[in-house]
Amino acid sequence: MVTMTTPVPKSRLFTPAELLKDAEILPSRDQQHYLMTVMRMNDGDPIGLFNGRDGEWLARVNPTSRKQCTLTVQQRLRGQSTSPDLWLMFAPVKKARLDFIAQKATEMGCSRIWPVRTDYCQMSRVNDDRMLANAIEAAEQTERLDIPEILAFTPLVEVLAGCENDRVLIFCDEESAGDSTVNAVTALAAYGPVSKAAILIGPEGGFSDAERKLLETRENCLKVSLGPRILRADTAAIAALACFQSVCGDWVP
Ligand code: SAM
Repeated sequence: MVTMTTPVPKSRLFTPAELLKDAEILPSRDQQHYLMTVMRMNDGDPIGLFNGRDGEWLARVNPTSRKQCTLTVQQRLRGQSTSPDLWLMFAPVKKARLDFIAQKATEMGCSRIWPVRTDYCQMSRVNDDRMLANAIEAAEQTERLDIPEILAFTPLVEVLAGCENDRVLIFCDEESAGDSTVNAVTALAAYGPVSKAAILIGPEGGFSDAERKLLETRENCLKVSLGPRILRADTAAIAALACFQSVCGDWVP
């Protein structure tokens, strides 16, 4: 039971461990460094823990040396909530922006982040571990109770085959820039309730004609414009996520 006297966590960490009263959790090496060296936590200090399944729990820090600690789980602070069934599929751009996209997609509530290899994509590989680390850090900061799934860098044809037919594919087409008849907000509002969606963003070189044809023949594909200007791929991802969340996502009651 959370009361006025329940300590407020000084920070919150994701853990894969099961969360239940009196469980002893051993933080990862990086988490121990963060708690003991960066945050200089003391014995009994409160932190929040979440694992994507059991809600958010209060835990207390138990230093075992100057630089190490364990955590004792005490009480549940929040029940588990789920993020919208919303995927971001995007053609990766230069490393720095990849971190940015992983963080922002997490803050915007994506349940899956899927790098897509398209015809004009200039990246040959993606560091999944680095993306996951960025997503976890963003989930801790944004007070989510789960972390998005990060999938491997996959060719567009296989990605489309991996999407259920009833998942609405929101195809952000730079060639529709300025076409107000497919403006993202009005198109999503007209489409009606969407229970599961995937936003698709192309690379710096845009989509090829062959890809555009493939997408336009897909069932439940909604081609949209993100306004009159050509956005950088990372800007377009955030703009599309904001349109979705504000029209049919978890920004609307
Ligand atoms: N061909 C251009 C280029 O080379 O810069 C455009 C590519 S744009 C940088 C990358 C992606 O962002 C596009 O493939 C598209 O998914 C999305 N995008 C950017 N501006 C958009 C707009 N106004 N409407 C719809 N999608 C847009």
